[in-house]
Amino acid sequence: MGIQIDALKCTGCMACEMACGYHRDDGFALLSSCIVAYRTKEKKDYFGVILKRDEDLLIARPEGTEIKRIGETEAAADSGKKADASAKPMLLREACDLCEEMDLGPMCIKFCPFDAISEA
Ligand code: SF4
Ligand code: SF4
Repeated sequence: MGIQIDALKCTGCMACEMACGYHRDDGFALLSSCIVAYRTKEKKDYFGVILKRDEDLLIARPEGTEIKRIGETEAAADSGKKADASAKPMLLREACDLCEEMDLGPMCIKFCPFDAISEA
């Protein structure tokens, strides 16, 4: 199982980020989240999501999904910075564990109000 993200449905509400932070830290700790909502300053109503996985970053943008392997560190980290994501670089965050110990399953899927995140 994996996670897929449809950025065209995303509104940048950050519910997934808060849910993941809660899963990671038993509190609403955004810096612990391995999924991050982002917007760009340049484009209005442009939302996307970055997911840290074991070996790569999944970057879902309205124009499509990109996968950056973690070896490509600068490009990957840049994607987070340019996207105006949280201050903590994605590469320092823990990778998604698919909420394997959570009875409810992946929290980001449960809490996304627009069904932008689903199981792959
Ligand atoms: S599945 Fe769980 S660990 Fe992975 S991004 Fe979603 S909330 Fe975070
Ligand atoms: S919860 Fe859903 S709509 Fe909100 S930022 Fe995350 S993916 Fe986007």
